[in-house]
Amino acid sequence: MAEELRIGVFVCECGINIAGTVDCDGLTEWAKTLPDVVFAIKNRYTCAEPGQQEIKQYIKEENLNRVVVASCTPRMHEPTFRRCCADAGLNPYLFEMANIREQCSWVHSDRKQATQKAKDIVKIAVAKARLLESQKELEVPVTQAALVVGGGIAGIQSSLDLADAGYQVWLVEKEPTIGGLMSYINKTFPTMD
Ligand code: SF4
Repeated sequence: MAEELRIGVFVCECGINIAGTVDCDGLTEWAKTLPDVVFAIKNRYTCAEPGQQEIKQYIKEENLNRVVVASCTPRMHEPTFRRCCADAGLNPYLFEMANIREQCSWVHSDRKQATQKAKDIVKIAVAKARLLESQKELEVPVTQAALVVGGGIAGIQSSLDLADAGYQVWLVEKEPTIGGLMSYINKTFPTMD
């Protein structure tokens, strides 16, 4: 039998960073109407300790099996919220992040339109959350070496930087010489070498 989906949506205001442009109360209420969403709540600062505790608390209390946080870029806090899920006993890959700050509140000034866009972003994240499956993390051995393809200036510099960092490097070039376009230039500014 297919698993019953129980999605929780946590909407972050980020102080006025998001709440200044997006109607977070309206967004939270609206999120409750999305398919398989059984719980939605708004936080002032979701990444702060009380916000994280709330995620863990409601995963348990509401028996959530998918979590969506609508806040900032995943580059900032995806690991934070994945840890919250894991701490509450949920596979961290059953978590999805909706970026309603960098991709919405920070780049729009019209509250009505920004709120509508935030709804679209949350709707997409919830749709993705419905398809998520638990994942296992694997550890695989990695050879401490690098292959750089292309012996132009960028390739040469990358190879030198990698070698300086202590890695063995193979630089591959299809032409008989390295240097790329630089080898066609007879002088370079400002040294005129
Ligand atoms: S989770 Fe992101 S958007 Fe929310 S308070 Fe923290 S930094 Fe701001």
